[in-house]
Amino acid sequence: MYVGDCKVEITRKRIKHLYLRIKEPGCVHVSAPKHWPGDYIQSVIEARSEWIKEQQQKLLQRQETTPRAQSYEDHAEIVVEGQSYCLKAVRKSAFPQLSAVTLCRETKTLTLSMSDPSNLEARKKQLDKWLRAQLKERIAQLLEHWQPIMGVAASDFGVRKMKTRWGSCNIRTHKIWLNFDLMSKAAESLEYVVVHELTHLYERYHNKRFYRLMDKYLPDWRERKQRLNS
Ligand SMILES: [Zn+2]
Repeated sequence: MYVGDCKVEITRKRIKHLYLRIKEPGCVHVSAPKHWPGDYIQSVIEARSEWIKEQQQKLLQRQETTPRAQSYEDHAEIVVEGQSYCLKAVRKSAFPQLSAVTLCRETKTLTLSMSDPSNLEARKKQLDKWLRAQLKERIAQLLEHWQPIMGVAASDFGVRKMKTRWGSCNIRTHKIWLNFDLMSKAAESLEYVVVHELTHLYERYHNKRFYRLMDKYLPDWRERKQRLNS
């Protein structure tokens, strides 16, 4: 069973009471007495659904507010679309044929071509600018694909750094915002967030109707969400 979009795993044990444990996002573990009927267990869990949702939210926020600092030294790991790349920077004058950022899938390297490769702040700037442009292009393609299928349209979209959310949707203006950090996530994850925000153009709240629409358009959205947050 599910509470909202959170999967419930029930284990029957020789115990007297029911116990709920939340250890990972998107999943709650329940230990229930062996002799309790299934529908009774379900009703007890449902009665705790608000608490479960709150705990899930807290867990996600804890994870999202403690990111490890990104290094921009040579050989630092940069994650793009779920793949790790090894960062290096070269002097532009020595490699005039290179563009500002070159991502090589074969060698798993990400090369910055710049006038002063020793400037770490400049490395970050150049890389962020490129990542933002890549992400915007991917989002534009996804919107082009999904809007006609879903019969809704965002008025505009933007990318920004967000601490606690992957995306947001302004119901009034129909503008969608997506988290800059989605650039490091796999393509399916980004697609999930885009469809989620487009669904808000139909339904403002995360209610039954919202989840029914998600199930209709993206039946595997729960797995995508779990992967995104793990
Ligand atoms: Zn939402």
